[in-house]
Amino acid sequence: TPVILWLRRDLRLADHPALTAAAKAGPVIPVFIRDHSVDSLGAAARWRLGEGLRAFAETLEARGLRLILRRGNARDVLRELVDETGAREVHWSRLYDPEAIERDTEVKSALKDAGITAESHTGHLLFEPWTVETKDGGFYKVYSPFWRAVKDRHIDEPLPTPEVTAPVTWPDSDVLEDWRLGEAMKRGAAILAKHCKPGAEAATARLGAFMAHKVDAYKTDRDLPAEDATSRMSEYLTYGEISPRQCWAAGARAMEDGKKGAEHYLKELVWREFAYHLVYHTPQIMTDNWRPEWDAFPWRDDERLAEVKAWKQGRTGVPFVDAAMREMYVTGYMHNRARMIVASYLTKHCMIHWRVGQRWFDDCLIDWDPASNALGWQWTAGSGPDAAPYFRVFNPETQAEKFDPRHHYLKRWIAEGQARPPETATDYFAAIPRRWGLSPEDAYPGRPVVGLKEGREAALEAYAHREWAE
Ligand code: FAD
Repeated sequence: TPVILWLRRDLRLADHPALTAAAKAGPVIPVFIRDHSVDSLGAAARWRLGEGLRAFAETLEARGLRLILRRGNARDVLRELVDETGAREVHWSRLYDPEAIERDTEVKSALKDAGITAESHTGHLLFEPWTVETKDGGFYKVYSPFWRAVKDRHIDEPLPTPEVTAPVTWPDSDVLEDWRLGEAMKRGAAILAKHCKPGAEAATARLGAFMAHKVDAYKTDRDLPAEDATSRMSEYLTYGEISPRQCWAAGARAMEDGKKGAEHYLKELVWREFAYHLVYHTPQIMTDNWRPEWDAFPWRDDERLAEVKAWKQGRTGVPFVDAAMREMYVTGYMHNRARMIVASYLTKHCMIHWRVGQRWFDDCLIDWDPASNALGWQWTAGSGPDAAPYFRVFNPETQAEKFDPRHHYLKRWIAEGQARPPETATDYFAAIPRRWGLSPEDAYPGRPVVGLKEGREAALEAYAHREWAE
């Protein structure tokens, strides 16, 4: 009898405990369900999911397998599939955000009620969030002790790709193109595609090249937004085209080989674990100020504000901020330092609620991750656990001088004022909607929408009047 493998954010064959278990139990029917969790993704993330599904379906087909696509409520779809195929087991890789937990719990009990074995597996994380405990049995709220608690843990080697048998007959499948997952990407999907290589094969190649050539200098160069100095694993981890354990194993090997930046790389991977640890223990981190006293801070939460529009369009008049916002619009990715700077400018200089920024990132990022995104915003805004203190306001100009001294990053993304702007910078104008009414011939904003000095002073002033925090 066939076994159902319910895929979600685990579009790979190697190091896949759920697939390995399913393959042991019988012929495997891999299924992806388009449910609410897919339809609620932002435009770029949904487009990227479609690319990942296409790549994964091709990988399966090369092995005589198929990816079955169905649409609807996961519980109903799985029950139907079990009836249609006679499968007695359903396996999947666990997820940890509140919506997924609620859905999966419901699916599990419905399948069990129907006498079906329903088994969830590890794979999306290195450490299950409930297995990392403080001495008094609580969860970690600060990263450094979390890192110390996990860094010497034994981590098994990644699993090999198992032998997978195809079922005798395949159930019907939707056609991926009919789902039109890129439909909401009105802005240049073709341009985005230039920067994106989906699939497990591309992920493994990129990780290998990073470990061979870049990890040594990672600790210093990771802060330079113009350099291609980081692993770029985030979109692959988001869709599970690579596992965190594969990244960890490669980093640990590089460390043994004496590569200097390797430990720092492992530390960054553990930030992702920490983000999930927090989402699991305090799911409200995704929607509400993690520190409730911040509810009284006079943040402005209004999408229609001129500052919000300028920030989204990369027209704030602060070059580092604008370069970064355009990088995200064109590639679906933004460098980590740039993420911190644009988030700081929005929440501090402009005093706009981090949720406004979070929503825009949700819509624009191809590596959108519920946990890392929420933690990143709350960390920068000051409302989160282990946060950068509110009074530490990044100065985007000083940051640019320090991390982009030759303005390579700025020139790459800002066309205005350049006689021969590079393709990346003009691509931005090809990608944006016409209704924004912008062109590379426009003059770059003469002064910032919120000046660096006045913005900083106003933010600190609001922060100083801390009746709101009492
Ligand atoms: P590398 O430097 O090569 O790091 C390796 C891996 O470690 C990354 O792929 C990622 O999985 C993890 N990692 C690194 N830094 C962080 C971090 N600060 N927090 C959590 N995990 C980290 N990351 C996302 O994956 N999705 C998001 O939606 C996201 N939103 C963010 C929003 C804000 C406001 C901020 C400040 C950060 C956000 N990050 C997010 C974290 C970080 O910016 C990206 O993970 C990183 O830039 C990805 O590039 P990379 O894969 O080359 O990273």
